[in-house]
Amino acid sequence: MADRATPAEGGRAAVDAISDAPSGNASNVLLAEVASETARIFWGNRWVAPIGSLAAAGVIAVSLSPHVSTRRLLVWLLLVTGAALGTLVAFAVPQLASRRSESGLPRLVPIGYGALGVAFGSLFWVSPEVLANDLAMWIVLAGLFAISAGVAGMSGLSDLSLMVLWPMWTLAALALFVAQVWVPAVGTVIFLVIMNGDQRRSTELWRELIGLRFRERQQAEENARRANHDDLTGLLNRSGIAQRFRAGDTATTAMFIDLDHFKEANDRFGHAMGDVVLQQVAQRLEASVRSQDMIARIGGDEFFVVFDQELSNERAMAIGQSIIAALEEPFQVSGDEEVWISASVGFTTVDRDETDASRLMTEADHAMLQAKRRGRRQVAAFTTNLEQELEARSGLESALRKAVRSQEIGCAAQPVFDLATGEIRVVEFLARWTLGGGSEVPPSVFIPLAEEVGLIDELSEQMLNRAGRLLQAWEHHPTLQGTRVSVNISPTQIAKGRLLEVATAVVAEYSIAPGRLVLELTESATLGEMHSTVELFDALRRLGIGLFVDDFGTGYSSLGHLLSLPLTGVKIDRSLIADLGTDPRRHAVMRAVRDLANVLGHEVIAEGVEISAQIDALLAMGISSGQGIGLLRPVPLDDFEEHLALLDWAHVAGTPPVRAGKL
Ligand code: C2E
Ligand code: CA
Ligand code: CA
Repeated sequence: MADRATPAEGGRAAVDAISDAPSGNASNVLLAEVASETARIFWGNRWVAPIGSLAAAGVIAVSLSPHVSTRRLLVWLLLVTGAALGTLVAFAVPQLASRRSESGLPRLVPIGYGALGVAFGSLFWVSPEVLANDLAMWIVLAGLFAISAGVAGMSGLSDLSLMVLWPMWTLAALALFVAQVWVPAVGTVIFLVIMNGDQRRSTELWRELIGLRFRERQQAEENARRANHDDLTGLLNRSGIAQRFRAGDTATTAMFIDLDHFKEANDRFGHAMGDVVLQQVAQRLEASVRSQDMIARIGGDEFFVVFDQELSNERAMAIGQSIIAALEEPFQVSGDEEVWISASVGFTTVDRDETDASRLMTEADHAMLQAKRRGRRQVAAFTTNLEQELEARSGLESALRKAVRSQEIGCAAQPVFDLATGEIRVVEFLARWTLGGGSEVPPSVFIPLAEEVGLIDELSEQMLNRAGRLLQAWEHHPTLQGTRVSVNISPTQIAKGRLLEVATAVVAEYSIAPGRLVLELTESATLGEMHSTVELFDALRRLGIGLFVDDFGTGYSSLGHLLSLPLTGVKIDRSLIADLGTDPRRHAVMRAVRDLANVLGHEVIAEGVEISAQIDALLAMGISSGQGIGLLRPVPLDDFEEHLALLDWAHVAGTPPVRAGKL
């Protein structure tokens, strides 16, 4: 059957499916549907035919009584009453009524209807005098027509009404022929033929109607299925698993499976291949657990299994290991291309009556993160420790939410200096969070949390607005006039979010001059969908915003990225600066970055400058911008100018400023 058909086509298709030999599965299903729907409606009206028959027979008998012998009329009445009562009784007896034919209708229905038809039609035979008397004959014919109309009106949309009408009219027509009453005899035959044709047409309509309803219901079921399933893998999705998860009095185990480095594989091999891998992952998962366990895909590369029972720790560990092993087999994508991935697994066991699916997911997810922390490709259980951690985290999350909403996130400033002159090149704004009691939550804790719970956009907007305000305030500042401000941007803001929108508004609101606002992005931020990243960066550049790659030299350092993105600067990570002078390989990397940046016209900034020896080494290498606690530690923005005033550059640099020399 066509997948997408208009309702009318659907009905048509339904009828076609019936008139075609019921070969396909779909038409069989539809046939069964039509039969059961017919059965349902007839069964609902089962009293009407026998009772109506009794009433009709009574009226006919009364009308005929002046014209024919009462005795014969009574015999006929008895026949009809017998058939009607027999049918009524049969319908009322559960054992009899429950014996159904394949159409789903009790076998008694056609028998009862047929008996009624025979009883009616026998009138001409039981009481042949009516054929001799014109008036009586017409009374009988009128009565039979009235019954036909009644039957057709009541059940006209089904061939079941023929069960009554055919025997009735056949017996009547035969009697008329035998008695050679030609006109009514021929008329009756013509009526039979027309009635038969009409009946066919109405049966078709009837089926069409049921077919339509059937398709509508199927569509609704399909929609419900789609809402609860993942399109790509056919597994349940998040809402599907939430719905299926039933509270109960038994405990249950759930497992969270996260693919390691899937995102990189996806970027490298393309999304189409990524999709193929995910589908195969789904199949392997299905093969790894039992059919009564529920499997869902709840995120890009996150899968979730709810077992239908509680598993012992050992058993869950073993299943987790076997899942990891199954996923480590290479994936065959298109031709001879193979993709290798691995997975981290976490599981938890909870009482069903104490929890819901989302709690189960959080706990298993948390255990999975623990597995990742331990170096991935492992299984971890949700433990009391993790539970405490989770609780602390959820407390922290609501505190952070409150802090962001009420703009309590503060700001520290740390300048990038010209290492030769001590001049300030850029001031980096760093988010600070001080709790009510005065203790500080480090950014390494609250920034990832903000990213995870969707607060980072708002936090970032506040930082950008703060940068705008300061840039405006410094417009006429004796020393900070013309200084640039840099703000950190999280990778998640590149992939989605409203960075461009916010940046555009800030640039406009504070009339920020071109080049004075800089965004710092870690390398991983630039690794996503290349095309859209370039588009975003271009747009930001058009706003006059500078773009630095932050922490360069960690992560997936790729010089290629420096080439392909419209950047303005590179901040070399402190890990490369730390053992400058002792490790010749670092030297080589630094020189390579410096040279490439110079060619591209990018600014090069050294992070984590802590001791004056590093300043000398950097200057000797031709890198003249540096930042670090050896120069000035991040200080609260409010006290920033005070700290600058106190800064004694000659003291900081240790030695009198040296001009950059060749290495
Ligand atoms: P980052 O962008 O690399 O910031 C530099 C970090 O190095 C700061 O840590 C700073 O205090 C520290 N630092 C500065 N000089 C030195 C030094 O000489 N030696 C050492 N060992 N460390 C030094 P902080 O403030 O804890 O920030 C950590 C990270 O949090 C930042 O790393 C940045 O990635 C992120 N972050 C901070 N503020 C924001 C923000 O507003 N938005 C976003 N998305 N991320 C932020
Ligand atoms: Ca930074
Ligand atoms: Ca950095």
